[in-house]
Amino acid sequence: MSFFDQIHQENKTQGKPKNPSMLNQIFSSPQNIEGNSHLIETLMKIEQKKHEMKKSFFHTLYSSPFVRGFYKNEPPVVDIELTGSKNEKKRLTALINSIAKNSETGRSLLQNAAEHGTKIGFDYQDTGYGYFDPTKNIVMINPCCSDAKLKTTLAHEVRHVYQHSRGLPDMLCQKDLATEVKLNRAAEADAQATAAQVALEIRATTRDSKVWQKFCSSYPLIANAISAPSKDAPVEKVIENQSKTMQDAFKGWFEQKNTVDIYEEDYLYFNLTSIAFQKKDDQLKTFEELPFEGNMSSKEIVEMFCQTSNGQCYFKDNPNILDDPKMCGISTETKNAADLFFQSRKNLTGKQEDKSYVDLPSRGSMYGRRAASENASDQNRSLKDTSDRKVHPALLTLLKNNKNR
Ligand SMILES: [Zn+2]
Repeated sequence: MSFFDQIHQENKTQGKPKNPSMLNQIFSSPQNIEGNSHLIETLMKIEQKKHEMKKSFFHTLYSSPFVRGFYKNEPPVVDIELTGSKNEKKRLTALINSIAKNSETGRSLLQNAAEHGTKIGFDYQDTGYGYFDPTKNIVMINPCCSDAKLKTTLAHEVRHVYQHSRGLPDMLCQKDLATEVKLNRAAEADAQATAAQVALEIRATTRDSKVWQKFCSSYPLIANAISAPSKDAPVEKVIENQSKTMQDAFKGWFEQKNTVDIYEEDYLYFNLTSIAFQKKDDQLKTFEELPFEGNMSSKEIVEMFCQTSNGQCYFKDNPNILDDPKMCGISTETKNAADLFFQSRKNLTGKQEDKSYVDLPSRGSMYGRRAASENASDQNRSLKDTSDRKVHPALLTLLKNNKNR
C-alpha cells in the first residue's frame, strides 16, 4: 500500500496536528532529514513497535467482557466477513445487527459491502474512529469507542465502500485538482450525511436516542444543519424525509472548517508537497502515480454517489451544488503547492500544467486558521501540554509512508 491510496479515515483530531512525536526536532529542517536518515529509520521502527504493543493491548482490553459487558452469541443478520478474536467478532456482530435491524439505509449498505466481499474488523488508532481501505477492501473501526459512536462510524465507512462500488477512484490525485477537491469532499460529506440518516432511523425504530445524541455531540455543526423529523415521528417519516436530511447534513459538513482543512491537507497538500524531498527518479514516479488528469463536473460527482436508499440523487434539484465557493475553494498553501508541483512536472516531463484549480475561490490560509484556533485554545491549556505540538509536514509525510507501507 502506498501513501497515495485513498484511505478514508474518520478523524478524531478536529484540527489538531496529528502524530506529535519526539522526532519533531529532527524534522525541523530538510537538512536534518537528509543528514539523519538512518537515525530516523531506527526511531520510526521504535515508534512503530510502541504503536503495535499499544494496539494489541487495547484490542484485548476493549473486546474483553470486563470492559464492554457480555454480547450475545447472535447469528449475523448480514452475511459479511468479520476479522479478529471471538470476542471481537461477537461485538462486531452486535453492532452490525443493531444497524441492520433498525435502519433500512444501514442494512442496504451493509449488504452492498457483503456483496463486494468487504471485511470488517477492529483496529486501534490514535487519531481516528475508523477507516475504509479500498486496496485491501477492509473496514476497520476503533475498539476504544463506544458502541453508540461505532454504529455511525460503521455506517460512514460502509458508505465509502458503496461510493467506490459506484466509481470513486481507489487512488488519490487521479483526476485534475479541481475535480479531486470536489470528489473527496463530496465523499466525506456524503458519508456523514449517511451516518446522520442511519442514526435518525435507529432512533425512530428503537425509540432510543443514544446513537443520534452521540452523533450530535461529535458533530454539532452537522447536527445543527439538519432539520430532522421530531423525536416521536415514525421511521416511515424519517425515511420519507431522507433526501432533505442528507442535503442538510451534506451542507453542514462544510461548516466544519477544521475538518475540511484536515482532509485538504491529507488528500491534496501532503501529496502535492511529497516531491519536495524526493530525488529526480522518485519525483518521476510520483508524477506517474499522481496523474491529476481528467475532469468531472459537479453534476457527475453528485450523481455518482449522492443517492438515497431509494436510488434518488438527493441533489437532483441542485446538481451543481459543489460549485458553491464554500465547497470548492482551496487554501493558499494548497494552491502554492500545486503551482510548484505542476511547474516541476512540466520541467521534468514536459507534461502541461493542470490549470483546473486556477480559478477556484480561495479559502485563505489553512495553517493560519489552525494557528489562530490553537492560540485561542492554548489559553485554557497548561504550559507543558502546549510544547512540541507543531509537526513539520515532512514528518507527517514520512510517518505516513511508514505507517502505510
Ligand atoms: Zn470518511
